[in-house]
Amino acid sequence: MLTDIEGNGIVMQEYLKIQKQKIEIDKWNEGCRRNTDPGQEYIIEWIEANAGWFREAWEGSLCKACRKILICGIELRNQCDIYRPREEK
Ligand SMILES: [Zn+2]
Repeated sequence: MLTDIEGNGIVMQEYLKIQKQKIEIDKWNEGCRRNTDPGQEYIIEWIEANAGWFREAWEGSLCKACRKILICGIELRNQCDIYRPREEK
């Protein structure tokens, strides 16, 4: 199944990758605000507070189907200037 780019396993992996990126950015910002590393606890709190809407925004975003997902997927955009659809199989 690893060759099937549209396979659910791959899409799921990308979703988790993007969510992880988002958490890391938010964690970094929070760290700057508090002037200390918010640590592992912050990640748990983030998931409790944000995983729901993040998942919905992901489902509705254009960039989740884009070849450049790792550049702009984090923005969860409905419109995107650099959107490039994945190759048809
Ligand atoms: Zn995009």
